[in-house]
Amino acid sequence: MTRDEDCIFCKIVAGDAPASLVCEEEHTLAFADRYPASPGHILVIPKEHYRDIHTLPAELAGEVMQTTSRVARAVNEALEPKGINLVQSNGVAARQSVMHFHMHIIPRYHHWKEDDDISILWRALEVQRTELDEWVTRVIRHVR
Ligand SMILES: [Zn+2]
Repeated sequence: MTRDEDCIFCKIVAGDAPASLVCEEEHTLAFADRYPASPGHILVIPKEHYRDIHTLPAELAGEVMQTTSRVARAVNEALEPKGINLVQSNGVAARQSVMHFHMHIIPRYHHWKEDDDISILWRALEVQRTELDEWVTRVIRHVR
């Protein structure tokens, strides 16, 4: 099993660091974020150390998503938030802080016009259809 000795999530997987576990499956682990954005903020990780979406095997990404689906449903039933964000960051520019792939499950308890100090916003670019088509054309060549 791939492990990074300095990685806090690998330490949690190994039982060498404390965590509030939600569930453990064959290849994934879900536990409470130590620095939650809201009550019930859960992280889902692959047990093996993969840095980001670029290195995580697609099959394992599927397992992470299955665990995410089950835990998000449980959070929704147990805590009854008004909404849930799934957030996943890759690279420092995307604000990835722990370099072990993780999916955030972030319950939201306020109506969208009320402020809860959680910001997952962007201002949409104004672009022409031709620009969308140009980006897509470049990406399509690399989908495999
Ligand atoms: Zn790790």
